[in-house]
Amino acid sequence: MLDCIFCKIVRKEIPAEIVYETEHWLAFLDIKPVNPGHTLLVPKTHFENLFDLPAERLAEFGGVAQKLARAVKMATNAAGLNLGMNNGRSAGQLIDHAHLHLIPRFENDGHRHWHGQTTPTKNELMEMKEKILAVLSE
Ligand code: 5GP
Ligand code: ZN
Repeated sequence: MLDCIFCKIVRKEIPAEIVYETEHWLAFLDIKPVNPGHTLLVPKTHFENLFDLPAERLAEFGGVAQKLARAVKMATNAAGLNLGMNNGRSAGQLIDHAHLHLIPRFENDGHRHWHGQTTPTKNELMEMKEKILAVLSE
């Protein structure tokens, strides 16, 4: 992808503070961090988001995320850490190259995490469960 910002970072055409690199993965500091140490993990190949990641990358994803999460938490002396992945514009994805946010968290750091905003009935929960089970069993 010629004009994708993260592809350009992968190709080292634009600078980034790279903290981790393997054959298939790159991690670098977010240019506008929620907190210091906010890191982005990307597959080196351009995939749009979670829905497009191939099985090989998905199989590595959890292990790489945990390794980086540990490093970022220790390096920043954070109290906790959020993993976040925005998939699709309506979910807040601005850069269409799959990326995982690793966000170190500190007591009272002011970052507002999501909170439940609906109160479904038991029936609504059951209906939703059936819909998801149906798709999964296809
Ligand atoms: P999204 O909203 O797509 O999940 O998040 C994109 C993230 O990429 C944002 O947190 C933003 O600060 C970061 N970002 C955007 N452009 C650049 C850039 O050129 N370099 C770096 N290091 N991060 C970027
Ligand atoms: Zn890309």
